[in-house]
Formats: sequence, C-alpha cells, structure tokens
Amino acid sequence: MKDIIIIGAGPAGNIVASETAAAGLDVLVLDSRQIIGDKLCTGIIGKECLDKFPPKEEDIYHKVNSATLISPNGKKYSITRNNTQAAILNRISYIQSIANNAKENGALYNLEHRVTEVNKHPDYISIKAKYNLDIKTYKCKLLVISSGFNTPLLRMIGINTQNDKSLLGSQIEVNLTEPIKTEVYFGKEISPGSFGWLVPLYNSKALLGVISKTKTQENIKYFLKKLTNDGKIIDRDYNIKSWGIPINPINKTYQNRILITGDAAGLTKPTTGGGIYYSLLSGQLAAKTSIEAIKSNNFSENKLKEYESAWKNIFGREITISNYSRLFFETLNNDQIEKIIELGFEFQKELINESDFSFDWHSKVILKAFKIKKLRESLMKLVPMIPSILLKK
Ligand SMILES: Cc1cc2nc3c(=O)[nH]c(=O)nc-3n(C[C@H](O)[C@H](O)[C@H](O)COP(=O)(O)OP(=O)(O)OC[C@H]3O[C@@H](n4cnc5c(N)ncnc54)[C@H](O)[C@@H]3O)c2cc1C
Repeated sequence: MKDIIIIGAGPAGNIVASETAAAGLDVLVLDSRQIIGDKLCTGIIGKECLDKFPPKEEDIYHKVNSATLISPNGKKYSITRNNTQAAILNRISYIQSIANNAKENGALYNLEHRVTEVNKHPDYISIKAKYNLDIKTYKCKLLVISSGFNTPLLRMIGINTQNDKSLLGSQIEVNLTEPIKTEVYFGKEISPGSFGWLVPLYNSKALLGVISKTKTQENIKYFLKKLTNDGKIIDRDYNIKSWGIPINPINKTYQNRILITGDAAGLTKPTTGGGIYYSLLSGQLAAKTSIEAIKSNNFSENKLKEYESAWKNIFGREITISNYSRLFFETLNNDQIEKIIELGFEFQKELINESDFSFDWHSKVILKAFKIKKLRESLMKLVPMIPSILLKK
C-alpha cells in the first residue's frame, strides 16, 4: 500500500508529489495524459509565483512589465510598471520541471493511467485506473485529488460541483504579422463579462484567447476575424481549443483520507481565471497536511481540515472579493466598460501604485476603488445598482 496517491500531474499534483516525496513518503502519481503539463493554458504567472516557484530561465518566453488594455471602442490604454509583474512561460516545460523534481525526490509516475473508480474504506482508499486495456487497482493511506476542472472523481466521493459557477476558456495559437506586447481586449462581442487576450510567445507565435461564462466559440471566431482584418494576425485555418475554469471553491476540500487541490477544488483567481499559482499554493499546503497525517497516522477529517483552514487563510477572502467584482463586471454593457476603463486609467496612480499592485492579489485594488471617494461616486453614478448586485451573491 502506498502512503499517498495523487491523481493528476498538473501544477497542483506535481507540487504535492515533490514535497511529500522529499519528506520521505512513498508517493505514486497517476495521470491520464501521455505528456505531463500539456493542458490548455496561456502560461502566465505573476511575480509572486515567479519568486516562490521559480521556472528555469529557458522556460520563460517573456518577462512582462507592461500591457495594453483595449476598450470596447478600440481605445488603447498602456500600463507600464518599473519592474517585472508577470512572466509568459513555456507551460509544459514549467510543469514538467516540477514533476522532474518530484521524481528526483522519489515519487513514481504512471502516465496514461486514467482513474475510473475511487472507493473509500475505513483503513485505506482503493482506486482503479485504466491503462491501455488493463484495469489496475491501487491502495493508499491518503488520496490527493488534483485532477483538474470538473473532475468526475468528485462525484464518486459524493461531491457535486456547480457547473454554472465556471468559465469557459477558448484559445488559439496564431502567427503574428509583427511583434507585439501583451494585449487585453474588452467588450461584449469579444468576451461577455470577461476579456480576451493576445499574448506573444516566441518568434511570430502568440496565443489568442477569450474567457466567458457563456459559450466562447462564436466570440473567439469574432475576435480572430477582427485581429486578422486589423492586419495583426496572419490569415490561416487555426485550431480552436476550449476548456473550463472553475471560479468558486467546492464546499469542502477534505474528507477522511482525501484532500482536493487546485482546479479540482475550484481554487483559481475569479477575476482572470488564472489558476497556476493557487494550484501550486494549495498543493504545497496539501503536502504539509499530508506529511503530518502520515507521520501521526491520523487521516481523520479533523486532522485534514487543517489544509482547508490554511488555504482559506491565505486566499479565501481574495477569492470571495474577486468573485464579487466579477459579478459586478458581468452586468456592465459596453458603454459602462468603456467608462470604467477610462476611470481606472484616470485614477491609476492611486489605484495601482508600485507597492500595492500585484498580478496575483486583486482584492486590494478592488477595495481601493470603492475607498477613493471621487472614484466611488463616479462608479455609483455609472452603475447605480452596484449595492443590489453585490447583495445578490
Ligand atoms: C484557456 C485557458 C488559459 C489559461 N491560462 C492561464 C494562465 O495564463 N495562467 C494561469 O495561472 N492559469 C491559466 N489557466 C488556468 C490553469 O491552466 C489551471 O488553473 C491550472 O492548470 C490548474 O492546475 P491543476 O493542477 O489543478 O489541474 P490541471 O492542470 O488541469 O491538471 C490536472 C491533471 O489531471 C489529469 N487527470 C484528469 N482526470 C484524470 C483521471 N481520471 N485520471 C488520471 N489523471 C487525470 C489531467 O490529465 C491533468 O494532467 C488557463 C485555463 C484555460 C482554460
């Protein structure tokens, strides 16, 4: 019997594997993929994530200290900071390097193993995984579910996820006609309630994407056509890929002998849908609780709930506040978005001074917007029903 089995070799699962194996636990990771980390993603992480979970230099395509916001009417607002705020990564290579650390620490990886069954027993957890035509059975003292968005494994342990509380992301790898810096686009046609992006990778390659609560296929086609017509993108037959992003944590991220991390637990930034950092953070916290549970032979809910208290302590409030601001943003029409971007730019010095601004933590800026009297008054005038929108939550 393994000490710990981790289902999913994304950022969340790999960091759990790396840290629990480093502590001497007997660790097995199962993933249905052939290539670790090959999941739909843009690969942007903020400065804090860069510092805490540093990628290798060769996995960084670009360090980012500026971005251009493009309003629904096409007005451009350029924001530049003195220091690096984020980085665009070779996502596959970054996630693989965390898995390589885990392997060096002694974790065993079985790829192309799709877990199809999870069974809880008083003294252990048993799981079944499909590998080619074989069904393999494994047992562990502790199971960590890190199997990403809308994983059916949660239903097997009695947890119902709320599909209505998620976003859909669609993305295309495109060829640029000339070099660009990161661009963020707003407007209902591109992304109702959210935003679209054009992010440079290497040579002339870039990622063009949109996220939204509604179906994104038509929006991304519109966006692609627009940027092609604008002469930014070479006209080709591109392949659109889509995948979900949860924006609400599940009700409970632990059970007897089970912990749930990353997207599987609904732990992302609801403002942008970015989830790599919270996956790594939640994985790290799950690893800490797992090591203590194995060492004390205590797998009770009472012990494992320490994991949930720890992530709530670090980013629970951040998720709640960001969800309120998403709810607010989703109600805006194009004219209101136009005005809000204009206001944000007008008050940018107060809103995002160097020490306050963080790509990873948005609640400070959101709350500040309501603390600056002139800005609050303008916002209330623009969207008089702000209080009732927030009360809906
Ligand atoms: C279009 C798009 C763009 C994004 N861009 C960004 C970005 O720029 N920055 C950012 O921070 N976040 C971004 N995200 C979100 C980010 O990709 C996720 O939040 C992050 O990957 C979650 O990590 P995870 O480890 O929880 O899950 P995942 O990375 O999804 O890993 C889960 C793993 O579990 C495996 N698995 C699933 N089911 C099973 C099973 N039954 N048996 C075995 N294995 C299984 C999968 O194969 C997968 O490898 C983006 C998402 C989308 C959709």
